[in-house]
Parts: sequence; C-alpha cells; structure tokens
Amino acid sequence: MRYLVLSDIHANLEALEAVLEAARTMPYDKVLVLGDLVGYGADPNGVVDRIRGLAPHAVIRGNHDKVGAGLEPSDAFNTVARAAIRWTYEALSDDNRDWLADLPAGPTAVDELLEICHGTPFDEDVYVFDDTDVLRAMEASSRRLCLFGHTHVQVGYRLARQSLTLETADPRRPLHIDIADGHYLINPGSVGQPRDGDPRAGFGVYDATRQVVEIHRTAYPVERAQARIREAGLPEALAQRLGIGR
Ligand code: ZN
Repeated sequence: MRYLVLSDIHANLEALEAVLEAARTMPYDKVLVLGDLVGYGADPNGVVDRIRGLAPHAVIRGNHDKVGAGLEPSDAFNTVARAAIRWTYEALSDDNRDWLADLPAGPTAVDELLEICHGTPFDEDVYVFDDTDVLRAMEASSRRLCLFGHTHVQVGYRLARQSLTLETADPRRPLHIDIADGHYLINPGSVGQPRDGDPRAGFGVYDATRQVVEIHRTAYPVERAQARIREAGLPEALAQRLGIGR
C-alpha cells in the first residue's frame, strides 16, 4: 500500500495539479491530507473540490481550515494571513465551508505504524521547530511514525536508542527515509506555500509495505498562482513569497 501525502496546499490549485501529475508515475493507492487546504491562495473552492474528488483515505483540518470555515476567529493570525482568511471565508461555497468545518482535528491513526496530525499530536496549532518540540511530539504520538505539517518545511526526525537524528531533504533528489527501526516525525513539506527557499511544491509518499517515507519536490507554474492571487485582490506579499519559497 502506498499513500500520497499532501499538506499545506493553501488554495494553490496550480501546485496541487502539478503534484498530482508528478505522483501519477510514482504511483500511489490512497491519499492522506494533513490540513491547511485553504488560506493564502486564490483557489479555495478549486482545491477543496479537487481533494474531495480524490476521496482521500484520511483528511484532517489545519488552523487555516478552522478559521476559514468560521469555527474560530482570526485574532491569532498576522495581518496578511487575517486578510487572506477573511477573503477565503467569503469565497468558499456554503457546501465547501461546511465540508471544511466537519473535518476532524488530528491526530488520526492510519495504520498500526502511522498517525497523521497538522501541528503536533497534542495540539494541531503548535509548531515543531527544535529538538524539544520533536521529543514532545513523539512522546504524544500513538504510533512509531507520525507525519505532520504546519511548518511548511520538509524534514524528518528519527529517535532510536536515545539518539535523535535529523534528515533534511536534498533539493537535487528525493529523500527516502527508512522507518524500519525507531520513532519518526516527518514533514512532507508544503504543496502550496513552501518556506525553505525552494519554490517547488513539496509532498510525500508513505510506502507501508516497504516501510519507507519518500520526500519529493516538483516544479509548477508559480507565475500562474501569483497572477491568481493578484486578480483576487489578496495581499501582494502572498504572491511574492511563492516566487522565493519563503
Ligand atoms: Zn499551513
């Protein structure tokens, strides 16, 4: 069984289509979505429709989905994110807004090895940045492998025999993380708004049979996503950051 893992799509339909095209050749059986389908980008309905059409095996919500669906106020967001999420709330169809509002919060167990969450297993809104965060998240996880999102950075942590090691994706080739032994906390990166200086869309594949997590990158027409953001009247900063992957 191979799962395509999508996180932080952020209403970027151009990036999502490119990822689905790239993933066709991998290939995969089922889809997992780690939250933040909407917010920042100009195609919230296009992205939600496309994901719903894929009938994912599991989808959990992210902080932007929660606020975009009207479940929480946008007070915790910065000015740019707040302007975008207010636009998103208005732009969403009633049906898609209801669908987002019904998404479960993580963590969700996928099989005996894997669970998925947005930020951490103990709080969907908390970011994993340093070793302390990693260890806290691993401790809270009910599985040996936890896939997470929220930071928009592709990274993998392995804890085995009391030693924590870090695997960072090499931009030139896909990273394969063998999960045979130890605990793992892995972020497949962001489809629609990467923040590691590489503008290409990030995604992952979890091969449950071979016990490997693959981390991939694929180019997409960034200028088209930027043009859509400008046409929608969303903050210019959101178009700019896609070009530099920050
Ligand atoms: Zn996000």
